[in-house]
Amino acid sequence: MNDRYDDEDAIDEGYEADREPNDDLDTEADVTCPWCGEGITITLDPGGGTAQDYVEDCEVCCRPWRVKVHYEEDGHAEVTLDEG
Ligand SMILES: [Zn+2]
Repeated sequence: MNDRYDDEDAIDEGYEADREPNDDLDTEADVTCPWCGEGITITLDPGGGTAQDYVEDCEVCCRPWRVKVHYEEDGHAEVTLDEG
């Protein structure tokens, strides 16, 4: 009699990149424009990481800000603006 070997491939497709933004992270921050002094609420993108550094234009005077965002462990965003 023939022995039957079930040559089954153990296909492991359990790998999923389950990467959701943390709901506890701030999505907005109140800042003051270093150029014109206006107080503005900017929108943050928590999906961009816990330390961010980018350039954004002031919506009042249209001058560029160098925006630095740092998320604290409790989800609070520490935002610093520099004159770009
Ligand atoms: Zn401004």
